Amino acid sequence: MKQVVIIFGPPGAGKGAQSELLAEKMGYYHLESSKVIENCFKKEGPEKIFEIDGEKFKVSDEKKLWETGILVSPPFVVSLMIDKIKELYNEDDNLIMSGSPRTLYEVEKELPVLDQLFGRENIHVIFLEISAETTLWRNSKRKTCELMRHSILYSSETENLTMCPLDGSALKRREKLDDPETIKVRLKEYAERTVPMLEYMKKQGVNVHKINGEKTIAEVHAEVMKAIQ
Ligand SMILES: [Zn+2]
Repeated sequence: MKQVVIIFGPPGAGKGAQSELLAEKMGYYHLESSKVIENCFKKEGPEKIFEIDGEKFKVSDEKKLWETGILVSPPFVVSLMIDKIKELYNEDDNLIMSGSPRTLYEVEKELPVLDQLFGRENIHVIFLEISAETTLWRNSKRKTCELMRHSILYSSETENLTMCPLDGSALKRREKLDDPETIKVRLKEYAERTVPMLEYMKKQGVNVHKINGEKTIAEVHAEVMKAIQ
């Protein structure tokens, strides 16, 4: 049976690291909404307009929202994600999803599609819990590689790294996205929009697993594996 793992948590909870582990160790396809959105920004001109359910969404407006740390319009991200989910299902992949769904609207649109393709019992929600202090601290130290966007978590071993240990490309801060002011906006967005969505998932009977994200990557990974087996 094909599985879908949806991973949630505030910025810096380790969603990227856990998703990459599932992708590399278990062969899951990491469906990351930020990559889907950024690919769209790269592919489509700023003037391009998406028409979704009779509403119009302009690429340049969505890009502006994205850069100020506010989530892009839910219909816009949902339409990109659903297309990608269907494409990947046909390629016979297990999925690990991060970034979307993360609002009530998104989950109401994406869950029926996932249900229909994968079956409710094969959907697992992993909720990584960390404190607000950990979020701010981890994001102020985060570096991301230029080539693959591998996220390098801060530690004494990685403190002075300038090249990605996996592919050798340059490590950079994600400008704007990881600035403290942007992180505060993202945290507020997270609390207001993501938490009610999680409650909704529970009421719908989706398997929701809460895991302490303050632990090491390896420890959290072991908990994730236990949860989804
Ligand atoms: Zn890399």
